[in-house]
Amino acid sequence: MVDLDGSLGEGGGQILRTSLALSAATGQPLSIEKIRAGRAKPGLMRQHLACVNAAAEISGAKVEGAQLGSQSLRFAPGPVRAGEYRFSIASAGSCMLVLQTVLPPLLLAGAASRVHLSGGTHNPMAPPFHFLERAFAPLVRRLGADLQLTLRRCGFYPAGGGEAEATIVPAAGALQPFDLMARGEHRSSHAECLAPGLPRHVPTRELDTLGGAMGWSSEQLRFGTARQNEGPGNALLATLAYEHVTEVFTAFGEKSLSAEQVAHGLVKELREFQKSEAAVGPHLADQLALLLALAAWQGKKACAFTCSEVTEHTRTNCAVIERFLPVRFAIDESRQICTVRVSPA
Ligand code: AMP
Repeated sequence: MVDLDGSLGEGGGQILRTSLALSAATGQPLSIEKIRAGRAKPGLMRQHLACVNAAAEISGAKVEGAQLGSQSLRFAPGPVRAGEYRFSIASAGSCMLVLQTVLPPLLLAGAASRVHLSGGTHNPMAPPFHFLERAFAPLVRRLGADLQLTLRRCGFYPAGGGEAEATIVPAAGALQPFDLMARGEHRSSHAECLAPGLPRHVPTRELDTLGGAMGWSSEQLRFGTARQNEGPGNALLATLAYEHVTEVFTAFGEKSLSAEQVAHGLVKELREFQKSEAAVGPHLADQLALLLALAAWQGKKACAFTCSEVTEHTRTNCAVIERFLPVRFAIDESRQICTVRVSPA
């Protein structure tokens, strides 16, 4: 039994998702208290319950405490079954976070799986669909496995209703560890604005402001494809492709923010990343830590990556991973580039 304190470090939903994922992947039962104690509304919200139920469904787990608002959970998984699954969040909660929960165990299952997801596809504080498709999935493929993603319909807060599909194919043998120390040569950059159900001047102003600040040409500034009835919603995405990695940064529109403020928020993130020479940005870092830990464990070989910033999410994720897998992380923030190394214990 792995006993976890959910208020550890960052104290959010990721502690729960990573521990559900690794409990199912390794077969070790999980007991977690003080779930999301660090958040304004602590305990299991609808989207976290969806993650618990999804992890239970793929592993036939016995679960206690899976109720709205619950701050403690017991989760005893059985063997993970590959197959076809449908996971739906009735609210606009992120269904991409449900995918983040079931992906690690399904990557280690005996056969391919197909997962249909519905809910939010572009939510603040969660990986947007395009980030997973362009930045995260290529790194899954470098492990020797495969992740293919299809977006059927965008889902934004508050309406939700997005639809996506994921095909997850495990590696033929063990997951293969790799190092990602540099982003390599710059290949291309572009921005796109999703603004279904909003007046045309909103995406126009966001793209113009971003383009002006970054010095990007009109070919690099695009109106994203989303049908009017997928809104209202607004996400401004920037995709930076390099020789070894592609990064996606996203800013979300809010009623209290002007289009110009949304664009400036994204410009700030892009400049932070461009200032550093690290391979990946802060969000990809916490998600890559889990992938490389699985590969270091299975492949019995150390591996490392560099990132522009080590966030509390990354630090906490590494601490949770160490509770489940026989691996050790070493984080070096001494130079301009941060290095995260994971080795078999
Ligand atoms: P939590 O806040 O604990 O629920 O975890 C949020 C998760 O979503 C973490 O894995 C973050 O890295 C990820 N995340 C949040 N915002 C973004 C973003 N803009 N792009 C990619 N991933 C994100």
